[in-house]
Amino acid sequence: MTASGDETGDLLRYDEWAAALEDGDLRGQRCPDCGHETAAPKAACGRCGARDLETVSLPTEGTVYTETTVAVAPEGFDGGYRVAVVDLGEARVLARLADDCEAGIGDPVEFSGTVSGPNGEPAPLFD
Ligand SMILES: [Zn+2]
Repeated sequence: MTASGDETGDLLRYDEWAAALEDGDLRGQRCPDCGHETAAPKAACGRCGARDLETVSLPTEGTVYTETTVAVAPEGFDGGYRVAVVDLGEARVLARLADDCEAGIGDPVEFSGTVSGPNGEPAPLFD
């Protein structure tokens, strides 16, 4: 516990996560109680509810857990891009697949940068 008693003071925030992502650091959180890892900022562990999550750097190599093609894109985007849930071991991250990436379920992929989402927010890109 910190001196102030603020147990959430060190929690990974979205703006920190996004800035690190643009610097090539895929961050996540690890639960000190159950070991569960997530790939995007959360206020509490999705498995056990613990709130004192630790910030960790996630592996940059993983495998495609599942993927799909977005044919009807958000306004301002061209459809036909692929998104995937990439298995990074304990954590899974929702990501875009590069246009020339032909990886399917179970294939290896590597974190290769970011793309802009519908509101300009960065999304991890895998290739
Ligand atoms: Zn937990």
